[in-house]
Amino acid sequence: MCMTDTFEIHDHRHELKQLRDSGDTKLFENRDGLSCPVCGTAFRRLLMTANQAVQFPENDGSRFCILRQPTEIVVFRH
Ligand SMILES: [Zn+2]
Repeated sequence: MCMTDTFEIHDHRHELKQLRDSGDTKLFENRDGLSCPVCGTAFRRLLMTANQAVQFPENDGSRFCILRQPTEIVVFRH
C-alpha cells in the first residue's frame, strides 16, 4: 500500500520536532501522530538523508519503512 510517493518536510513542518541536523542528515520526532506515507500508520521518528550510505545505530527492534525520493531517502521508524 502506498498512499503517496513523496514526503516533503516543508508540508509537515508544524507536526515535526527537529532533534538533529548534521547537514545532509536530519532527524525529526513525530509530535502530532503524522502517518507514515509508506504503510499508513503513525511513526515515531523520521530520518531524512541525502547521503549515499547511512549507518543505523542499534535500536530496540522497532520496524521501519523507507521511502526513496529523487534527492534523498526518508526512513520512518515506528
Ligand atoms: Zn511505515
